[in-house]
Parts: sequence; structure tokens; C-alpha cells
Amino acid sequence: KASVMDGDKFDNEMSTDSPETTKAKSELEKLQEDRKTLPIYPYRDDLLKAVEEYQVLVIVGETGSGKTTQIPQYLHEAGYTKRGKVGCTQPRRVAAMSVAARVSQEMGVKLGHEVGYSIRFEDCTSEKTVLKYMTDGMLLRELLGEPDLASYSVIMVDEAHERTVSTDILFGLVKDIARFRKDIKLLISSATLDAEKFSDFFDSAPIFKIPGRRYPVEIHYTKAPEADYLDAAIVTVLQIHVTQSPGDILVFLTGQEEIETAEEILKHRVRGFGTKIAELIICPIYANLPTELQAKIFEPTPIGARKVVLATNIAETSLTIDGIKYVIDPGFCKMKSYNPRTGMESLLVTPISKASANQRAGRSGRTGPGKCFRLYTAYNYYTELDDNTPPEIQRTNLASVVLSLKSLGIHDLLNFDFMDPPPAEALLKALELLFALSALNKLGELTKVGRRMAEFPLDPMLSKMIVASDKYKCSDEVISIAAMLSVGNSIFYRPKDKQVHADNARMNFHTGNVGDHIALMKVRSMKRARDIRDQLEGLLERVEIELTSCPNDLEAIKKAITSGFFPHSARLQKNGSYRTVKHPQTVYIHPSSGLAQVLPRWVVYHELVLTTKEYMRQVTELKPEWLVEIAPHYYQMKDVEDAGSKKMPKGQGRAAEQPPVSGINLTTVSVKHLA
Ligand code: ADP
Ligand code: MG
Repeated sequence: KASVMDGDKFDNEMSTDSPETTKAKSELEKLQEDRKTLPIYPYRDDLLKAVEEYQVLVIVGETGSGKTTQIPQYLHEAGYTKRGKVGCTQPRRVAAMSVAARVSQEMGVKLGHEVGYSIRFEDCTSEKTVLKYMTDGMLLRELLGEPDLASYSVIMVDEAHERTVSTDILFGLVKDIARFRKDIKLLISSATLDAEKFSDFFDSAPIFKIPGRRYPVEIHYTKAPEADYLDAAIVTVLQIHVTQSPGDILVFLTGQEEIETAEEILKHRVRGFGTKIAELIICPIYANLPTELQAKIFEPTPIGARKVVLATNIAETSLTIDGIKYVIDPGFCKMKSYNPRTGMESLLVTPISKASANQRAGRSGRTGPGKCFRLYTAYNYYTELDDNTPPEIQRTNLASVVLSLKSLGIHDLLNFDFMDPPPAEALLKALELLFALSALNKLGELTKVGRRMAEFPLDPMLSKMIVASDKYKCSDEVISIAAMLSVGNSIFYRPKDKQVHADNARMNFHTGNVGDHIALMKVRSMKRARDIRDQLEGLLERVEIELTSCPNDLEAIKKAITSGFFPHSARLQKNGSYRTVKHPQTVYIHPSSGLAQVLPRWVVYHELVLTTKEYMRQVTELKPEWLVEIAPHYYQMKDVEDAGSKKMPKGQGRAAEQPPVSGINLTTVSVKHLA
């Protein structure tokens, strides 16, 4: 076929100026052969014709059919990249990186050259980049600088069925762009069959179906509910390993910690068998897994051995691992939920939906007949699981999204073109929070502070902390803290066999009970945190905040922290628990905190995590009068008066006399809109 020849020719041209030319030619040829075996390949020409004919196209094809890796290459081969980049969004950072790596291999170019990826705090692209994989959140940020996406000829919103908040917002924005940029092409691709909904949203865009190849999957249920699904999953892995024919195993777990526990127990039990059983290769995969370890899951399993992949939801549709024949599905995932009344967000282990369960089962039948072991009963499946997971926009804190939309000049949020609108209450809560942080004025318009905050790819409370550091002359320290908080909780790494060591090392940073935020500031040696910090430093310059340092003035640093996190304040109770000030709720200091034994009277926290109790994670002590000083519109004296404590310093009472400018104004204004 002529078009395929063109494609091959292009690949060779691409690789001539690349250092990869030295790579064995046969390896590239093998990859090119593999490309032709994917289910999407026979539809290549039809697909390109459809893209040429229609501006917006919905593409549906089962996971593993080649949508993500092939479509951008087809578009490149057909010349679309001569007019601009092809951007392909992914809800998950690991998927964006891994897919970009794969496509650069297939094209025989160096990652970051013609094929690159962009995820928060990591830009692996260059002038040369024509195929750009990125998280949906990154494209949203790019829109702030390039509202018409002028540098793109095609945008592919991939994994549309995941319905992350960023993807949902992108739907509304790219639909609008397509109306005035007739030359841009939009592809909305999804792994599930609810394509009608996407088509309806995009003014009845045609649906292009890629027929999948699916082998039968035998579904097994447990006879009775499992009390401990992790243990049940491990036992099932071992049973499959010793009784079933060759084929790799995929186990769906809920998060990093669970995966690490499972890995450790499995290793231990396998050791117990000695040489009586075949080799079992254990591969974990989750969002924070270091990049160098991610590639391991794709390595072919040696003959005679068996691979078991312990994965989060990421393996449900975002990543395809070849060779999986057995799936173990405990039926749970971690899901965000949000209470708009209290403004509290939590990540809870929740039963999955039927749609998820079916996706998971399908992962075993890609290359041959498969088996799926559901660690729940058939009764559970049919009567207790919801059909679908509600989109994230309906169960999340929207402050960050609202700030982005406001900076894009979209003021009337209630009338934004949402595929499924968020609860009005959640929108109001977001407006209220942004107002409290002084990012919006009473009319809901972006303030100078808000404009500065929007430049930072961070949660608004963190951005506010940075913007406020200008006033306290400690931006240097505060961006270090923000960088460390952004790296996640992997900073104080606790290898299972060295926990005591790790905890001792961690406690060294807590000398003087400085609190967790300050401790983080002291450990900022990690490379990733340093990279993030460098970027934040660049952004400071952009919003014209000078880099200032006051390493010994901890009060100034704590005040900057409080400026961003004052809505997260809590006061000690007699029994050692805490009570949050604004929406009273009982919470505790997380045992990993340096202040867990200290129990200061007043604290601000970074986030709440619910495990056995509602815990505050990353905690810093504060003086209650700071709350009134920093956020007089939010706290009155009566909120922070401490029975038995001395009077507030003079001058602090002023705020109480003024009628507080509370969120009420904003609420009444917005509710009118609603009616
Ligand atoms: P879809 O987007 O339709 O789910 P993909 O384009 O992601 O499909 O996958 C097509 C094929 O490419 C799959 O067989 C998968 O195994 C392979 N593949 C994708 N990413 C990688 C990778 N990082 N390493 C090796 N193979 C990969
Ligand atoms: Mg895909």
C-alpha cells in the first residue's frame, strides 16, 4: 500500500540525523513489523480519510488496539505535523511517559526529539518535537499561554472514558477552539462503548470504531466474600502459579503501599517454596514508581518463568502489558470523594463499577483465551456494583480548575459547556475558597494575587503560600517547602526492612520540634524536588517576586504557610485529638509527623488522610492570632480565642470590630445566577 510505504520512508528519514541510527536496523524493522499486527493497522487508511473529512472524530477501540501509540504516528506519516504539532493527552503521567518512550522507539528517534512528553514539572520535548504526549492537566496549562492552541494541528484527547476533571474541562475548551479554528482536528478516543455521549457533546461527531480482537475470558467468582482481599489475592497468585498453564498474571491493587506489601509477602512465600516451583518475576507499577523501574513491566517474560504484575488502576486501560493471561480483581480502587459542605476531600478505597470490572477482566483475553478471578461473589457483582464510576468532576475539589478557568477569561462558570456539570455547591465552595485566599474579589473576578497564583502549577493553597512569601521575605524557603510537598510522600522513603533506621533519620530533621513543613525544607536534597524548585524559582521571576531568604526567621516562614493554609487550621482538644476550626471535625496528627508527640495547641495542616482515623498530614504549629492577622475576612476573634490563654496582643482585635467580609456576599450573588 502506498501510504504504508510513505510511512516507512518517513521513519527512515527521521532516523538519519539521530544518534539512534547506530541501533541495529533489524530491531527497528522488527518494531515496524509489530506495528502491522495491531488491530488498528487494517483501518489506517480509512481512519486517515475520516480525519481528513471531519473536523471532530470520536474513536472507539479496545485497550491495546493501538490507538495511543499508532494514531499520532499515522497522522505524522500523513503529513499533519507539517502544519503543527500533534498533541495527545493522557490522564496519567506514567502513561504519557511510557507511551512516548514506546513511540520514540518505534520511530527510531531519541525521546525528547521528534517524540516527547510533557508532564507537570517535567518537560521532555524540544524544538524538534512534533508528536507530543502530555497529561490532560498540562494541555490545560498550555492553554493559559496559547488560548487557540495555534502550535497544534491535531489534538487527540485520549482515554476520554477516564473522565478526569482536566479531560472534562478540555472537552469544553477544545470544542470552542474548533469552532473558530477550522484547520484544527480533534480526535476524542475512548476504550469503552459510551461513545454516543462524546459524539452528542461534540455536535454529533461521527464515531470511528476499531473492532477489537477479544478472546473469551472465563470469569471466576469467590463463593463467599473475602475478609482480607490482599491475602486472597496473594494466595490466588500462588495457586495460579503452581496449577495453571504458562501466561502472566495481572493483579489490581489500590495503591503503592498495598502493592509494596503484596510484593514483600509474595517474595517471602516464593522463597519458602525454594526450587520446587518455577521462577516468579514480580513487577510493581504505580504512579510514583521511579521511571527506571517502569520499563521492567514491558520486558518479555523468559521461557519457563512467569511474570506477575502488581498494578493500580493504571493497567485497567492506560497501559497494555502483553502476555497477560490471568487477571486477579479484588474489586476495589482508591477513589477521590469530596464533601462540598465541609470542603474536605478524601481518597477512599471504594468498590469498583461493573464497567471497571469488565475492563479488568478484558485484560486477560488480548492474545488468547484468558481467566479472570474476581475476589468477590457473583451476587456482589450483579447487585452491589454500580454500572459506571461518576466522573471525577462530580466528586472533587474544584478550586484549581476554577482558578484556571478564571485566568482563561471564563467567568460564567455555571454556564460553561460541561459534559456533566459539577454540583453547583462544589463550584460555590471553590469560589468561596478562592475568595478567602484573595485570588478573587467580591464580584468573583481574578485579582492580582489570583493572577500570580494561576502561574504556578500547584493547588491554589500552595500557590497562595508562595505568593504570600513575598510579603514575609522568605520566598526562597517557601518554594523549597512547596517543591517537597509536590514530590509526594516518597521523600522519607521507608524500606520495609529498614523502617527503624528510616524513622530515626527522619526524626533528625525534626530537632527542635520545628514542624513538618520546616523539616521538609531541610531535606530538600532529592533531585526531583530540586528540579521542581528550580522551576518554581523561574515562575517567581515571572510573577515578579524576588527571591528572598530568612532561614532563621521561622515565624515569617510559618506565616507564609498560614497565608495559604489558614482554612486548614485545627485546635488541640483535651483528649489529644484536634478540632478543625471552620467546619468542626475531629482529626488527629498523623503518627509520621514530627509533632505527633508534641501536640501543639494550634496547627495548620497540608491535607487530611483517612486511614484508621482522620489524620492531618504535614503539620505546622501556629499562633492563633496569626489567623486573624492573616485572614481577618475568614476568622474572627471568637473563632480563635483560647480559653485560659492570655489576651490577644494589642492591635489584633481590630478585625473583629469590622464586619467580616465573609464568603456570604459571593454566595448570594452566585445563588441568584443559579435560580
Ligand atoms: P491503546 O491505546 O489502543 O490501548 P496502545 O497504543 O497503548 O493501545 O498499545 C498498542 C501496543 O503497544 C500494545 O500491544 C502494547 O503492548 C504496546 N505498548 C504500548 N506501550 C508500550 C511500552 N511502553 N513498551 C512496550 N510496548 C508497549
Ligand atoms: Mg491508549
